[in-house]
Amino acid sequence: MIKVCEHCGKEFETNRSYQKFCSPKCKKQNYDERQRERQRERQRDQKIAVKIEKPKPILDPAFKDNIPVRRLNGEILCMWCGHEFDGKHNQRFCCDEHATLFYEELFDRFGG
Ligand SMILES: [Zn+2]
Ligand SMILES: [Zn+2]
Repeated sequence: MIKVCEHCGKEFETNRSYQKFCSPKCKKQNYDERQRERQRERQRDQKIAVKIEKPKPILDPAFKDNIPVRRLNGEILCMWCGHEFDGKHNQRFCCDEHATLFYEELFDRFGG
């Protein structure tokens, strides 16, 4: 019977009805492409997952005047991401970036 290769679109002669490709080369290339496509999808999913997992800041209008130090069992936690960090005395954030994000969100929500 004459079949059309699912990879290159060329017609080929075969007596095996399940054969989808004209050559082992086409079969392999098609398989590789599928693997790559699957990997791309996986990476895309991961990116989405990271996006959804947003930090949960504690926000209160009173923080505009005075941001408390967030503590848990004597450890200082970042006000923005809640992660424990090696905080000095009155530090509220694990990094400058989180401080900026916190202030932006605070004033976005409660006004400057
Ligand atoms: Zn082919
Ligand atoms: Zn943080």
